Amino acid sequence: AHLDRIAAVDGEVHAFLHVDGERALEQAAVIDHRIAGGEKLGPLAGVPLALKDILTYRGAPTTCGSKILEGWLPPYDATVTRRLLDADLVILGKTNLDEFAMGSSTENSAYGPTRNPWDTTRIPGGSGGGSAAALAAFEAPLAIGTDTGGSIRQPASVTGTVGVKPTYGGTSRYGVVAMASSLDQPGPCARTVLDAALLHEVIAGHDPMDSTSIDAPVPPVVEAARSGDVAGLRIGVVKELSGEGYAPGVEQRFREAVELLASLGAEIVEVSCPHFVYALGAYYLIMPSEVSSNLAKFDAMRFGLRVGDDGNHSAEQVMGLTREAGFGAEVKRRIIIGTYALSSGYYDAYYGSAQKVRTLISRDFAAAFSSVDVLVSPSTPVTAFPLGEKVDDPLAMYANDLCTIPSNLAGNASASFPVGLAPEDGLPVGLQVMAPPLADDRLYRVGAALE
Ligand code: GLN
Repeated sequence: AHLDRIAAVDGEVHAFLHVDGERALEQAAVIDHRIAGGEKLGPLAGVPLALKDILTYRGAPTTCGSKILEGWLPPYDATVTRRLLDADLVILGKTNLDEFAMGSSTENSAYGPTRNPWDTTRIPGGSGGGSAAALAAFEAPLAIGTDTGGSIRQPASVTGTVGVKPTYGGTSRYGVVAMASSLDQPGPCARTVLDAALLHEVIAGHDPMDSTSIDAPVPPVVEAARSGDVAGLRIGVVKELSGEGYAPGVEQRFREAVELLASLGAEIVEVSCPHFVYALGAYYLIMPSEVSSNLAKFDAMRFGLRVGDDGNHSAEQVMGLTREAGFGAEVKRRIIIGTYALSSGYYDAYYGSAQKVRTLISRDFAAAFSSVDVLVSPSTPVTAFPLGEKVDDPLAMYANDLCTIPSNLAGNASASFPVGLAPEDGLPVGLQVMAPPLADDRLYRVGAALE
């Protein structure tokens, strides 16, 4: 049914870069056979899923939305992919994204944009617009995203779906093509809070293949999603994440959701996190710095594309020609910014200062979490904007991540839940919940209360 749905709508939505129906149906047939044989399988056995095209899946094209990886077939599975397969989920295909997950609209994909199923003249968010749109268009009931600065939560917000960024180290980055390694985190995307929690439980937990993986029990996310009990929960509304630049309908639906939580017994207080206003600036130094290092491996020798290998060019020229042709404008911009920020003489002023701001943001969180259990804000300042509106204005594009970035810098757990449609444009609004590291279950408690 999902393959039929993809065939019917994906020409317009373009959530997928690659669909392998045959492989999915084979997988499903094996699962059917095992069920017929009386085997007891897990709760998500047989459920189809869409995988963001930045996670490896052995034998399936993995492009990261970039021309430079065109034709590359990974020889191994990401740990997240492996856990999905071990839990008998059926992988439908790979979803579209901004090139190497850099962007907030999926317009930076080298393979063309994804469209928002609510209004196909608008963006589905980014970088994980493909995964979110696949859910919103009913092309898949579950999807995997990755969140470095908001790429799970912002697409969830503008498509009316649920997206969770687990605690940094809570899910494995092994086999997730690295963008900014100290920030990247794969996580679950779904249409309901319980679906997201069931998927979270499957993919989370310690992995010795990822040196930053936390060796601790997975928080009780499914139990929290089933409960939705927020009585007595102390919820802090972040003062700095509101006001100028926030659409009236976003603020209205956010306020109503907070009132609903209060009516269910939560204790609401206003909290100030004074350094959050510097988060965007710090992120756009730290993130490109890590990008400039991580993307150095795309050198025309190891993976995918190779340009100019005709006997007339040196190895260095082949590398240059390949990177020139293979990377898009946003990726090049970040490699250049990152290389500059890390260069001798500028390192302390840019990268060093950004790291200090990062520490101050973590301290804001720590101070806040000494008096509240979770923090809340809108997930993103505005609803889905028209395709093309911000694509030539990087700063306007970066501003979409204002609310989501602090949690990445601090490594916290954070999620976006749908809280209705903005009255002015009828488009989905998301509420963001932020919890301390390894308290991911609190996100689901709040999400379930709102559902
Ligand atoms: N939109 C942000 C960026 O462009 C976040 C991306 C992400 O989380 N992968 O960096």
